[in-house]
Amino acid sequence: MSLMAFDWIAKHAEAQPDAPAIHDLLSDRRYTYAELNDRVDRAALFLYERCGVSQGDRIALLMHNCSDMVELIFAAWRIGAICVPMNWRLAVPEIAYIIGDCQPKALFHTSEFTENAAAAVKQYGQHVMLVEAADGQKCHYEGGLRASYGNLPEVEHGFEDPWVILYTSGTTGRPKGAQITYAMQLFNAVNCMVANRITPKSHGLCVLPLFHVGGLCVYLSPLLHAGGMNTIMDQFDAKVMLNLITDREVGMTHALGVPTNFLFMSQLPEFKDANFDHLECVGVGGAAPSNALLETYARKGVLFEHAWGMTETSSIGTSIPKHMALEKIGSCGLPVLHVECKIADEDGNTLPPGEVGELLIRGPTVTNGYWKLPEATAQAFLPGGWFKTGDAARVDEDGYYYIVDRWKDMYISGGENVYPLEVEDALYRLNGVAECAVIGVPDERWGEVGRAFIVAEASAGLTEARVIAHCQEQLARYKAPKSVRFLDELPHNATGKVTKHLLPRD
Ligand code: ADP
Repeated sequence: MSLMAFDWIAKHAEAQPDAPAIHDLLSDRRYTYAELNDRVDRAALFLYERCGVSQGDRIALLMHNCSDMVELIFAAWRIGAICVPMNWRLAVPEIAYIIGDCQPKALFHTSEFTENAAAAVKQYGQHVMLVEAADGQKCHYEGGLRASYGNLPEVEHGFEDPWVILYTSGTTGRPKGAQITYAMQLFNAVNCMVANRITPKSHGLCVLPLFHVGGLCVYLSPLLHAGGMNTIMDQFDAKVMLNLITDREVGMTHALGVPTNFLFMSQLPEFKDANFDHLECVGVGGAAPSNALLETYARKGVLFEHAWGMTETSSIGTSIPKHMALEKIGSCGLPVLHVECKIADEDGNTLPPGEVGELLIRGPTVTNGYWKLPEATAQAFLPGGWFKTGDAARVDEDGYYYIVDRWKDMYISGGENVYPLEVEDALYRLNGVAECAVIGVPDERWGEVGRAFIVAEASAGLTEARVIAHCQEQLARYKAPKSVRFLDELPHNATGKVTKHLLPRD
């Protein structure tokens, strides 16, 4: 029996046409399932007829969170195309790299990204149709929707067809496109539904970026699978988020954020009197929340459903049951319904409870590979289909997982991953940098921020400001180091590799 893929929005439009599906907060647009389905249909036709997008093609998105992004993702799927939502924080050379890698037929962007989109396409050097979206009635996209009606081509959807490609940086220094298939998405929806009690009556807040699994797959796509409602915030704003999740009339039931989001909200004066009692599920993940943060919210009655996940696992891989949040504080919980985890040594042998090893995961939510990178895909797995997460973790006697360290050379700044190799690569493009190394150092606001150590050529006259400005031109701002230290030499081990743990962190 071959499994078939169904269109969730179309199904709910038949079963509950008047049920609210989406509220786009910035534009205050609200769509029921029937309305959303109509817009997805028109968007699919627009893609097919006007943009020349057909099955297997890619489209790329460059915009802050908005309902148009959700429509385009589902519209692409409707005609068998693949959506690539890109990180809007990226600098032009980074966007150009991704466009070159996934070769989209069209790039949809909002007006604040017009320049970046055009410059990136120019750098890529091939024709990509540019479409302006999300700016109300006059924009190209809305005009396209109005003009598009008729029948869509018949498309056979395979269970294993890619649904989206999400780029994650990595140990290679260059972003890799993690494929998220329809099947992964379906099992992820089931995992979240069970772990986080998502029903057609649920109302979730989407505040994390839709180009990350945190925004797209927790809890937005599971809510659309269940026929529930999503409120979409364009970007994080602590005050707006706190108001939304505490206002009983808004009726929010589910909210997810990275630790920084919750830290910022807890620092607002309004936090003291905030009441979270009506919320069914408050999730935190993407980076390790401190126990102090978990306790601050516990005192307000919020038992965080602390989850661990990765792009490559379509979002949550483990999640702590709410009733265990305090008893197992610091744990990111148990493997969710349709995955299996273990702690292993370097050869993949299972380690006993209490011992620290690499967290491995397998199951139908784990990626089937990186876009056009068979070697990187093969390297990411151990025999038996175990995906190597690069996270150091332990499991206790009751099966609860704890992330204790990161073995991959990566740090997390405000919920965004930064791979030092990528930053070092940018630094080496600056004249006068003889050798460099980048590490993450603790930061009260962002969790971690980058620090660059540079051995400079004597004549170069490099300064901290010059180095940071160079990085900001080449890279997304969150990747640019916040401080620079000039050294006469970097510490090395016997094979000549920089021993990063010997670099000063204070
Ligand atoms: P996400 O959108 O979940 O951040 P990424 O692929 O960008 O996905 O990053 C995944 C990495 O983030 C994990 O491998 C891990 O290092 C870190 N991470 C995610 N959740 C947690 C958590 N709860 N505690 C500690 N680290 C986490």
